[in-house]
Amino acid sequence: MAERGMRTVRDLRRSNRSLLLRRLYFGGPLSRQDLIDTTTLSAASVSNVIGDLIGAGLVAEVGSVGSEGGRPRILLRVDCPRWHAIGVDVGETRVLVELFTLDLAVLVRAEYPLPDGCGAVAAVVERIGEGVRSVLADGGVQPATVVGVGVGVPGVVEHADGPKEGVVHGQTVGWDAVPLERLVREAAGLEPDLPVFVDNGATTLGQAEMWFGAGRGARDAVITLIGSGVGACVVAGGSPYRGTGRSAGEWGHTTVQVGGRACRCGARGCLEAYVGAEAVIARYREAADGGARGREGAELSGLDEEHAVAAILAADANGDRAALAVLEETAVYLGVGVANLINLFNPERIVIGGWAGLLLGGRLLPRVREIAGDYALRHAFTTVELKLGELGPDAVARGAATLPVESFLGQVGPR
Ligand SMILES: [Zn+2]
Repeated sequence: MAERGMRTVRDLRRSNRSLLLRRLYFGGPLSRQDLIDTTTLSAASVSNVIGDLIGAGLVAEVGSVGSEGGRPRILLRVDCPRWHAIGVDVGETRVLVELFTLDLAVLVRAEYPLPDGCGAVAAVVERIGEGVRSVLADGGVQPATVVGVGVGVPGVVEHADGPKEGVVHGQTVGWDAVPLERLVREAAGLEPDLPVFVDNGATTLGQAEMWFGAGRGARDAVITLIGSGVGACVVAGGSPYRGTGRSAGEWGHTTVQVGGRACRCGARGCLEAYVGAEAVIARYREAADGGARGREGAELSGLDEEHAVAAILAADANGDRAALAVLEETAVYLGVGVANLINLFNPERIVIGGWAGLLLGGRLLPRVREIAGDYALRHAFTTVELKLGELGPDAVARGAATLPVESFLGQVGPR
């Protein structure tokens, strides 16, 4: 009984610490009185817990504000510059490793192209290891201030044997049960107690946009990731909806055309086969070769995907018929995909993100909205807000860094 009582007191203390730390992280700076007013904790509890958090270097006093007739109130916030997190984006054409402060401001980045794509696991792992070592050295941070490493990958991440063994299944990139957490830990030479988290890239992007970007303040939202491939993070009641095998949100592989174009997943007519960057480029090439390209047409040979999509947009602006046709068709399929999300989830917000989503969305969003309105149920459509992501094309790495930060805020403290 006594031991159980002890554990309960300790749990309560930990949960109070986490509650105040999260409140300050997402809403700070706040005074002790603000914390008393907006939580169920007593003044004495707030005072004790804040004392602990300041003592542990997690919270800092950052000035004061006057209060009516009383003493000035001291403002508190999480001591973000003191702590660090690493975020890794395993993209289909490159690995990006970034070192952040706890509030996810970038300090140092290292980028490695993957000329043969991300299919070769050993090459990807080697670059992650090199990147992690490199940003730690260039950032000049003490290893003890790093709260963990997060990795966003194109695939489904399963945690079969507990949190230490994240295994990645990436059907469209040829990854079969890859034990990425262990491989990253070995390649980067990480201390055994440093947390490493692996999650789907669309989910990490979704979490970044929910915390700091276009999803902020929403409870029910869908954050989409359109790059070479297409995915989504469905947020229900404030948390990502994952499904029984953690593969929910594979929006790119929902069917928009029965018997349509072949998709990388092996099926036909998937949304990704129409609106993913690889598909947009392939469709433009076919249209141009079919004679629709005018003199203003884009020459795509030798360009990487990002420049190729930009060239198609530029050709469209110059009046190229093939570009116009392909972009119009892309907007229609994307609008249908958005309508499907609206009808299935009735979200308050849908965010178009990912590098290709931002690039194409800048031009196509009004048309996508129009098409979504044609296909979605009226009531659900009138209450949804459709907007572009706000964190830029590299939000997957920042989102990956939210994984160790979230754990840090929950565990309340260094290792
Ligand atoms: Zn597919």
